[in-house]
Amino acid sequence: MTNQSDFCECAMCGFKWRQGQDGDHSCARILRTRVVELKAWKESAQAVLDEIDLQAIGKELGVKLGDPIGPAILPGIRAIKACTVFQSTRGL
Ligand SMILES: [Zn+2]
Repeated sequence: MTNQSDFCECAMCGFKWRQGQDGDHSCARILRTRVVELKAWKESAQAVLDEIDLQAIGKELGVKLGDPIGPAILPGIRAIKACTVFQSTRGL
């Protein structure tokens, strides 16, 4: 009689085997394919990030040298929008 705890499952491919009898199971081909996919994803994500001039944005928002720019972007946009709305309601 076997129960579920006697079995192991590969987290990568779902292959199941009885504990101690994993034999020649290998996910190497799946992992190589996954690495290729992730490298392509990283390159496309990096290309998108490279289009954003964070230094120039930080300079426009008055972010101090060494402070992170990313967290300042949304508050900066909101401040600019609030200022624009204020000016338009005053007819400026
Ligand atoms: Zn596997």
